[in-house]
Amino acid sequence: METAFPILVVDDDVVSRSLVERYLKKSGFDVSCASNGKEALHLLSNQFYPIVVTDWMMPEMDGPELCHMIRDQKTEGYVYILIVTARGSKSDIVSGLEAGADDYLTKPIHSAELLARINTGIRILNLEQSLKSANEEIRLLSITDPLTGCFNRAYLNERFPQEFTRAQRYRHALSVLIADIDHFKKINDSYGHQVGDLVLKRVSRCLMEQVREKIDWVVRYGGEEFLFVLPETDCNGMRILSERLRQSVSQLSIQHENHTLHVTASFGGACKPVCPPGNGGGFQNISIDHLINKADAQLYRSKRGGRNRVSVEEISLEKV
Ligand code: GH3
Ligand code: MG
Ligand code: MG
Repeated sequence: METAFPILVVDDDVVSRSLVERYLKKSGFDVSCASNGKEALHLLSNQFYPIVVTDWMMPEMDGPELCHMIRDQKTEGYVYILIVTARGSKSDIVSGLEAGADDYLTKPIHSAELLARINTGIRILNLEQSLKSANEEIRLLSITDPLTGCFNRAYLNERFPQEFTRAQRYRHALSVLIADIDHFKKINDSYGHQVGDLVLKRVSRCLMEQVREKIDWVVRYGGEEFLFVLPETDCNGMRILSERLRQSVSQLSIQHENHTLHVTASFGGACKPVCPPGNGGGFQNISIDHLINKADAQLYRSKRGGRNRVSVEEISLEKV
């Protein structure tokens, strides 16, 4: 049985350490060993061990101190600590638990008891993992639009300031692009809201598929409007991307019953270019709103110009 929880066994006494190691390995655990707290911390700094079985008395760093050190560190996840005591007095047990251990074992170690206590730890670690994934799911739901799977406005408000500050600090280019489906109201009016939703899903998927994964990000900005944040992207890069997106949307064939629907979208973008060195505080007074408003103005230019087109603007230093 291979388990997802590697165990670190810490004991200065070779005989009892090997005994615990053997018991655990026999039960299918992936086991590493250290001969004192210091060595254990060193191993923990290179690899995460969710379960630590530590002896109490050891040179260099004893069990309770190791517990304290582990609890003070920021670890990848919870570390379940079993402390082994030869003494077994009530006050020892209390001080071991107070140092941060989750449970204790008394020497001589009994293999079935050791396994039973490890299994208790595994139940707790499993619980922690399911809590973690539930939290991640809730977080994801709170930042995505349920219909399209794009990020939502709340996420835009959270992340854009960070992205923008970074681009300002390092004087990098940053582009904002807005796409708006043309005459979308007509689709709802002619085929109904559900078909409108289907079109939104297909268009958003088509848009999201074509941007750089984990770098660019797409927000459902309005009902049928999508806002792209494109870090490290200059005006020319944005223009090329927008043109590709425009073409792909116009080539979509969306099947509904016995109809094939075709849509187009208009694009408007604004770019804060790379700020060359020696420009003092160049671009420092551009705000996020400024960039989004400029992109919006370009979108209206595309609409006025006949739709299914791209308009982009590079913000020039002189105009700021
Ligand atoms: P234009 O080319 O000027 O952009 O025209 P348009 O019809 O696309 O723009 P308008 O702003 O007049 O209409 C947008 C429509 O989008 C109106 C609204 O009912 C619809 N809409 C907004 N959100 C949703 C949604 O979640 N689902 C559906 N089916 N329709 C939506
Ligand atoms: Mg529209
Ligand atoms: Mg609109």
